Amino acid sequence: MFDNLTERLGRVLTNLRGQGRLTEENIKDTMREVRMALLEADVALPVVRTFVDQVKAKAGGEEVMKSLTPGQTLIKIVNDELVQVMGQANESLDLSAQPPAVILMAGLQGSGKTTSVAKLSRWLQLNDKKKVMVVSCDVYRPAAIEQLQTLSREVEAEFIPSSPEQKPVDIAKDAVTRAKQAFADVLIVDTAGRLHVDEKMMGEIKALHATLNPVETLFVVDSMTGQDAANTAKAFNEALPLTGVILTKADGDARGGAALSIRQITGKPIKFIGVGEKTDALEPFYPDRIASRILGMGDVLSLVEEVTRKVDHEKAAKLATKLQKGKGFDLDDFREQMQQMNQMGGMSGLLDKLPGVGQLPDHVKNQVNDKDIGRLIAIINSMTPHERRFPAILKGSRKRRIAAGSGTQVQEVNKLLKQFAQMQKMMKKMKGGGMKKMLRGLGGKFPGMPGGGMPGGGGGGGGFPF
Ligand code: GDP
Ligand code: MG
Repeated sequence: MFDNLTERLGRVLTNLRGQGRLTEENIKDTMREVRMALLEADVALPVVRTFVDQVKAKAGGEEVMKSLTPGQTLIKIVNDELVQVMGQANESLDLSAQPPAVILMAGLQGSGKTTSVAKLSRWLQLNDKKKVMVVSCDVYRPAAIEQLQTLSREVEAEFIPSSPEQKPVDIAKDAVTRAKQAFADVLIVDTAGRLHVDEKMMGEIKALHATLNPVETLFVVDSMTGQDAANTAKAFNEALPLTGVILTKADGDARGGAALSIRQITGKPIKFIGVGEKTDALEPFYPDRIASRILGMGDVLSLVEEVTRKVDHEKAAKLATKLQKGKGFDLDDFREQMQQMNQMGGMSGLLDKLPGVGQLPDHVKNQVNDKDIGRLIAIINSMTPHERRFPAILKGSRKRRIAAGSGTQVQEVNKLLKQFAQMQKMMKKMKGGGMKKMLRGLGGKFPGMPGGGMPGGGGGGGGFPF
């Protein structure tokens, strides 16, 4: 998603890295490049202009903090401005109404309306425990109604039958009655695709709106149409009071112009993005997360969430207490950390989400090998409990026995012991608060990744002490 833009912006901003401070000159040069990158991403011109002006103004007044490079400072400013442009926070659906709360879908042909009805049903049932019913008012396209029927069966939403012989407004009226009788919380109404210049069809959807009195009128638009997405949304909004946008097919969009233009051009929030053809490929639109994705800083937020969810806090706390009491970090603890690592999808799973990793050369990325983790765990498993507590006693014959026992080579045992020693040194430095510090640290900078004390990473300072 948005790969081209990420690549461009990444290059522009890292060029600043070597420079000592932000000057008028280097801000100007960088912002010229950022402007180009945004235009290439098909962001609407007025949005680009405001964006560049805002960033320039903020960067000019910004003291570069001692701990940040000019590149990092500008990244922060650009990031904040991206978030701003996309609308700050996620705006969720407002379904507070006398049930059934009606959601009306509108948009061009093929934009993803019917698919989004199914995705949204699934979402509302799973996350909000809503009883959802759906109906199709698309009486024009052959098999449009059957398409919704099939999809609703898949997501287990209740389908209200309709037929091409009926008038859309009659279908709508009937559906509301049925939804009321069935005590549905939400009724989602699918409609035929239409162009905003088609007066007859726009008249029809206005009539549907008047009949249904929906709490949400969502404009469904294809991300790949770039700034046109924003312009059509604006045109629709002039005929029909939209409450939000669903941006579909973001999975195939390398540019991101639609995501960045819609809010400013229409004043309407993007509430969800579609990220695939399947009915579970729907995400709430979080401007801050998208911004950090665009900047290639990885989705730090979801990483933090993932880590917090999967890390075994009890074990971490036990380790922290143990270290605080002055007892050393031993090979049992090391094994524990690697096992947790595995549970989190291994290094390669984590790597994708880490800031800046997109720019690492492949040979560095390839050093991280999840199979290594399994081998290292096997080596530690082959040791006696005493050896794990006191690795210093591991000399020639013990190492040979361990290697044989784990199906590895003595060199690998040595490598593990070296990595362990590095990790031990680091844990000593962190004096037991390591785990918590790491979790807190996730929001900011990531300690030297990869290449730290982790398996396969080679030598070096940082690490990943879970
Ligand atoms: P409608 O005419 O607006 O109802 O559009 P449909 O829901 O029938 O979707 C048109 C096509 O776009 C279908 O092939 C869908 O599978 C596809 N589609 C819809 N949303 C997404 C999405 O978020 N990602 C991808 N890759 N395809 C999508
Ligand atoms: Mg359809």
